[in-house]
Amino acid sequence: MKLLAAFLFILAALFPHATSAATTAASAAKAPLEVVVLGSGGPRPFGRASASYIVMVDGTPRILMDAGPGAFLRIGELGLDLSSVDTILLTHLHIDHSGDLAAFFNARALSSDGPITYRIFGPDAAGLFPKTSRFVDLLVGDGGEFPYQKTFGADEKFIVKDLAINLDSPQTTILDDHGLLIEEVATHHGDCPSVAYRITYKGVTLVYSGDMDASALPNLVRLAKNADLLIFNCAVLDPPQSPEQLYELHTPPRKIGEAAHLSGVKSLLLSHTAPDVEGQEVAVRKSIRASYAGPVAFATDKLSVPVGK
Ligand SMILES: [Zn+2]
Repeated sequence: MKLLAAFLFILAALFPHATSAATTAASAAKAPLEVVVLGSGGPRPFGRASASYIVMVDGTPRILMDAGPGAFLRIGELGLDLSSVDTILLTHLHIDHSGDLAAFFNARALSSDGPITYRIFGPDAAGLFPKTSRFVDLLVGDGGEFPYQKTFGADEKFIVKDLAINLDSPQTTILDDHGLLIEEVATHHGDCPSVAYRITYKGVTLVYSGDMDASALPNLVRLAKNADLLIFNCAVLDPPQSPEQLYELHTPPRKIGEAAHLSGVKSLLLSHTAPDVEGQEVAVRKSIRASYAGPVAFATDKLSVPVGK
């Protein structure tokens, strides 16, 4: 327990708004937006769930961002009430960001009293990757993997919008619902179509990069302008410390710091941690500090971060 207390103290000192979901239960209801990390790892199995987040709006879980394997388990461990989750934002369709989507539909339907209409957003098709509407259809549509899910526990309707994936596509607003604003822009993640999201509510803003290589940073910097919280993947170390091919998929820490500085974000949460990054927090912080002076925290599964408070 002493170790845990010391850890929480250090965490609070480094990033005063971040602490465990359990310890912020009382304050959770007051933050307009709060991010609960379901999965801070991926794609390698080393004890973290893969990329997935729940966004609480006025203390109620409303938005699922990515659905990596392990999200289902973390939802249960946290006792999250899914009954108001109606919006799903998928950054890309790699397994470590989407593998638990069917399990999420299952869990959500079984916590519902009535019909569910999902608003699902994700990238358009390219190469080996289907567009998001086709992906959802392949999962739960007629002739898909789990067609029974549409009426299992609740009647479900899936409204899916495929988002533009060329880097020169304009930033768009995809949702404007009673003050909840969601915007997106195309990013770049090797050969995998990808997008990033910006969520604003009651004057606070969070941005989620998803996985992206450095070629998409100009788009991300525009999307994240003056955001209160930027969640950025940290899957590689600065070159040449990670395998060369990974830099075609991910942004190294030094460039993450530059992007955080250029966009003027107020705080940075590093997630999607890889095994070789996990033991290098000091080096990663140093790289980011070269450009960015704001608070920096490392995500762990079940971490809860109120936005802008
Ligand atoms: Zn990933």
